[in-house]
Amino acid sequence: MDILALRPVPAAAVLMAITRRCPLRCRHCSTGSLPASEEHPGEIFQRFAGTFAPGDGPRLVMLTGGEPLLRPRLARSLAEAAARGGGRTMILSGMFFAPRLPPAAGEKVRIPPAIAGAIDAADHFSASLDAFHEEEVPRESVFAVMRALLARGKDLSFHVTGTGPGDPYLRDVTSAVRREFGDRVPMLVSRVKPVGRARATAPPPTRTATATTTAEAVTALKTGTATATATRTAGAALTPGTGPPPGTGTATATATATGDATTTTTGDATATAGATAVAGSALPCAMAAWPAVGFDGTITACCNQDVVDHRPVPGHLRLGHAGTDDWDTVRERCLESGVLRALRTYGPLWLAGAPPSRGYCETCRTLDVPPPARTPAAAFVERRVLDLQLAGGGTAFARRYGCPPYDDLVSLGHPEREHDL
Ligand code: SF4
Repeated sequence: MDILALRPVPAAAVLMAITRRCPLRCRHCSTGSLPASEEHPGEIFQRFAGTFAPGDGPRLVMLTGGEPLLRPRLARSLAEAAARGGGRTMILSGMFFAPRLPPAAGEKVRIPPAIAGAIDAADHFSASLDAFHEEEVPRESVFAVMRALLARGKDLSFHVTGTGPGDPYLRDVTSAVRREFGDRVPMLVSRVKPVGRARATAPPPTRTATATTTAEAVTALKTGTATATATRTAGAALTPGTGPPPGTGTATATATATGDATTTTTGDATATAGATAVAGSALPCAMAAWPAVGFDGTITACCNQDVVDHRPVPGHLRLGHAGTDDWDTVRERCLESGVLRALRTYGPLWLAGAPPSRGYCETCRTLDVPPPARTPAAAFVERRVLDLQLAGGGTAFARRYGCPPYDDLVSLGHPEREHDL
């Protein structure tokens, strides 16, 4: 929950995909990873992490892949660099190292020493668990490793994936985790996205967003009546469940062209209705906040797999390269880019002047617009959008980008949840 609460905060964290390789062959793999997939010298990642100034690095370094624990010594050295920068580290693993035969009662589970060292060096460890992973690694084996880590005091979570709210697997596995770990281990439940090998597996997302008040407020911004309605813009854009799923490029939104009298300053009702319909496309992208270091060291503004994988990276989404740029420079670009700020505030459809029916990430990847003017009204809305996301915290983020009704499971074991109870 604490990690997800940071997700919309620009440059609060950096994702590092340190290898595309993975020994598993999960059918839904978003990175299309294989045992012989691309892998680049570890020095690229170490050089970049070496630029975290003492006490002034990212607050979180998230190590992913492929399977990051195929490079346990690299993972460990990056966790140590993150700590020197004053940050924490999280590792996300597919659990390839879990024993295929679960240990017998009373028998100790064996974790290879180098992998145990990397997990020890990280502050948080998360295991992927879903029907596809279970075809590769038995659930009981994963549970055995997680039990051992929990007994050692490790901070843990599960990344659980299913096909949607009605997926019976999700009901089964979330109940099993809750039972097994006594509600001490949180779960982020999300849907399989049609990315990588999952293009042939996953159903297309069906989420729909309604953003009438967003439309009113953004039209008001355009026509100079921003202050009264700007708050509604942010609120509407962050209505739980209205956000586009990251990385799908196919989310849709519907807007109601209200012709709200407060937005009509031109006297041209037709033009106002049209502008309102486009303004209804406003849906901020919270994923454009954490720089992502790709397998080859290229640093992008988000972790959308199509952005990470395709070259050249669109100019507005490229933040640099781990082999040549330092953290300060990347952070500055992330914070100051006018287009990224606008993506985080209004989203790509509004920026492109596109109707809500256009593909969300797809529109972003082909975006070719100048950064919007940095007016006081724009700065106000930007701040309000961020504040509302912060107020919603990790649970609201999970509701928007994950799989309701399972969003609340990110708070399992969190002191605030205990307090609420
Ligand atoms: S491609 Fe654009 S809209 Fe999609 S997640 Fe990345 S920054 Fe956001």
